[in-house]
Amino acid sequence: PTVGVVRETNDGERRVALVPKVVATLRGKGLDVIVESGAGLGALMPDELYEEAGATIGDAWSADVVLKVAAPNAQETARLRAGQKLIGFLAPRTNETGIAALADAGVEAYAVEAIPRISRAQVMDALSSQANVAGYKSVVLAASESTRYFPMLTTAAGTVKPATVLVLGVGVAGLQALATAKRLGGRVTGYDVRPEVADQVRSVGAQWLDLGIDAAGEGGYARELTEDERAQQQQALEDAIKGFDVVITTALVPGRPAPRLVTAAAVEGMKPGSVIVDLAGETGGNCEITEPGQTVVKHGVTICSPLNLPATMPEHSSELYSKNLYALIELMLDEGGALAPDFDDEVLAAACVTRKEATP
Ligand code: NAD
Repeated sequence: PTVGVVRETNDGERRVALVPKVVATLRGKGLDVIVESGAGLGALMPDELYEEAGATIGDAWSADVVLKVAAPNAQETARLRAGQKLIGFLAPRTNETGIAALADAGVEAYAVEAIPRISRAQVMDALSSQANVAGYKSVVLAASESTRYFPMLTTAAGTVKPATVLVLGVGVAGLQALATAKRLGGRVTGYDVRPEVADQVRSVGAQWLDLGIDAAGEGGYARELTEDERAQQQQALEDAIKGFDVVITTALVPGRPAPRLVTAAAVEGMKPGSVIVDLAGETGGNCEITEPGQTVVKHGVTICSPLNLPATMPEHSSELYSKNLYALIELMLDEGGALAPDFDDEVLAAACVTRKEATP
């Protein structure tokens, strides 16, 4: 069987779905890899590196399995044929027209977002590998925008107090943000509506902010808050946020607009020179003042809403994503090395979002 690595076309997308290192691993499993010329350039991986790893440069869209980062656009979908497999971030909850087009074309499409969050599937969990990158980069960005140091410093010219950092929403990105801010020397605090996260927050050396709300939902995700809970949360956070130099927000509810956690009044209460990094810009933002994709300054507070942070670290984000995809492909292989996904496997059944049912 053949695996195709195509060039990403979205603005600013620098990742590639498969890095040269993983080409060799796939070949070891008896798969041939075809790479579209220039596919790795955004991640600084030229065609020659792929060729050295044993891939051929050619028509990657014709492969048995096409690997992508972002969902294909209409023109790209038109290049796919019935029965062909496609794996990528297909946004199954929001990209209705794109998914319908793939279904119409008879493509067997796998959305990495739909892989269940179970232990066995951790190795293929692309949401996690990319959220880790985003969480790390959000802190680096906050430190760069801040007018203050993160660490406590004792110098001949005096002592500097450590920055106080609050992370709202402690899933994968939030936990990495806490750990990164801690390593930079900040005094870190985490908050989430899933009380089970408290221990994870403490395990990275952060304090847990308890507002007494429990909104644990299904599959390890949060549910949307009720009107009353939301009002209670906004008020409590408004009081808490004042005391922080840096606020990083990562709160998401699957398939819903991002919860509003930071009101305009909360921003006004912060000291000038403070920084908010809102990672939820793609679904509207956790901060009322957020302008997705922009950096704005209000009342002296800098509010950044970077989109697609993983694309800003394309080398490692692509490498980790490649390993996720490799693990998923490996799961599709039968004992003879043929691509024969077993849909009794809960991971493949969940990940596959469109396919032609076999005719009996
Ligand atoms: P996510 O990106 O969906 O959401 C980020 C965080 O925002 C979540 O922790 C959520 O509880 C929180 N949140 C939502 N509404 C909020 C609100 N109003 N106020 C404060 N916080 C709010 O989450 P994720 O990073 O995808 O992680 C989801 C779950 O999956 C977690 O339980 C995580 O531990 C789990 N997980 C499991 C595996 C695995 O076992 N394979 C791998 C990765 C993650």
